[in-house]
Amino acid sequence: MYNELKNNWDNILNKLKNDYDLTDVAFRTWILPLSLHSVKNDTINLVFNGEAASMSIGIIEKKYILPLKVVISEITGNEFSRITISEPNAAEPADEYETPAPSQLNQRQTESNLNPIYNFDSFIVGSNNDMAHAVALAVAEQPGTYNPLFIYGGVGLGKTHLMHAIGNYILENNKQLKVLYTSSESFTNELIDIMRNGKKDNTDFSEFRSKYRSVDVLMIDDIQFIIGKDRTQEEFFHTFNDLYMNQKQIIITSDKPPKDFLLLEDRLKSRFSVGVTVDIKSPEYETRVAILKKRAELKHYDIDDSVFQYIADNIVSNVRELEGALKKITLFANLSNQKITLPLAQDVLKDLINPDSTIKVDCNRIIEIVSEHYGVTVTDLLSNKKTKNIAYPRQICMYLCKELTEETYAGIGKALNRKDHSTIIHGVTKIAEEIEENQSTKSNIDVLIKKINPN
Ligand code: ADP
Ligand code: MG
Repeated sequence: MYNELKNNWDNILNKLKNDYDLTDVAFRTWILPLSLHSVKNDTINLVFNGEAASMSIGIIEKKYILPLKVVISEITGNEFSRITISEPNAAEPADEYETPAPSQLNQRQTESNLNPIYNFDSFIVGSNNDMAHAVALAVAEQPGTYNPLFIYGGVGLGKTHLMHAIGNYILENNKQLKVLYTSSESFTNELIDIMRNGKKDNTDFSEFRSKYRSVDVLMIDDIQFIIGKDRTQEEFFHTFNDLYMNQKQIIITSDKPPKDFLLLEDRLKSRFSVGVTVDIKSPEYETRVAILKKRAELKHYDIDDSVFQYIADNIVSNVRELEGALKKITLFANLSNQKITLPLAQDVLKDLINPDSTIKVDCNRIIEIVSEHYGVTVTDLLSNKKTKNIAYPRQICMYLCKELTEETYAGIGKALNRKDHSTIIHGVTKIAEEIEENQSTKSNIDVLIKKINPN
């Protein structure tokens, strides 16, 4: 058990961050410094190697023990009743035993940063993702077929899952290929660390470069986070070229299609577009039920269909929330020793499904979200600047205000600081036409609407 936990430790911590939406700071301060010390019966002993240990341990014990238990049970399939955390010098010496060498697959898995639970078997295909799934499978079977592969879609719709699935498939079926998964945040952070602590002779840079350029398959998750980070963009551009020239497979995910990266350098945008771009949309009702059933089956939960239907009826925004709801129900049933029934599900989910405060969608909220989505400032959106990378998101605001609020053209004009309301009519019509003609504009608008109103 110790070895299984040890081998999966990074996965466990990353999943905790992902599933529970930890901020980078919280993750770095409390979670990353946790290391596995020993495992005895159903107790896991951890050591905290970070700052202000006793206070931090108090916080971790209060907030993160239950999430840790849930994530550990999800990844390893084992439930532990206790997790203890000690300061480094207070921990009892660990039992001495030989750590058997990890199997070859395990070692490649660890080096690749891939999470084995995200595979094709556990990925449900529906009309929202069938194209993305088909292309992903083709790339997995024959890396290099579509290069680069660019997958985009809203949060929690399965981009990361699909990407890991490709990687895991290659690890299993193509023993000689080297696969590396990274988030664009880690890529950026690694680079920042080197620039901060870098040695004069640039050895760290060459290590960094060879790490990313010596692989056969490179996956970069959530590329939108490198926007506006010039140095990272530059470094990634060269990495990309190097791999591409050598016919190595590159896979990228993002929350929007390449053409909507208004602040991304054109040379990168055009590189992204030479391969294949596919999107993932929100799942339909049947797919939502199928995903829930698959989840329950993997976990051997015995749950009545009415419960799946209830969840799928009420939680429509994304798969992560769908799974979160199921997790909440099963955890609650477990802890309180009750059977999973429809009334129990209704009770557990009442806050999720009928939240007291629904988000108020008004023009200001729309402007804020559009500004964040396109990486432009609100001030610019409200200004008179006419460059395309500002004028276009501004027109998107006009369209969304018309679609999602009751405002008149004049009211929208006021919110956007435009005197002449014919400008607004023009903007709304232009985007409406573009949506009709262009599938990717439509998907992008769908993503934006989800961001504006996740309920
Ligand atoms: P994204 O990267 O798009 O934000 P993730 O890949 O992290 O989303 O997916 C969120 C959760 O939903 C994960 O636990 C993932 O396994 C699950 N999930 C998403 N799509 C599917 C699917 N089609 N079938 C099964 N599980 C899915
Ligand atoms: Mg993701």
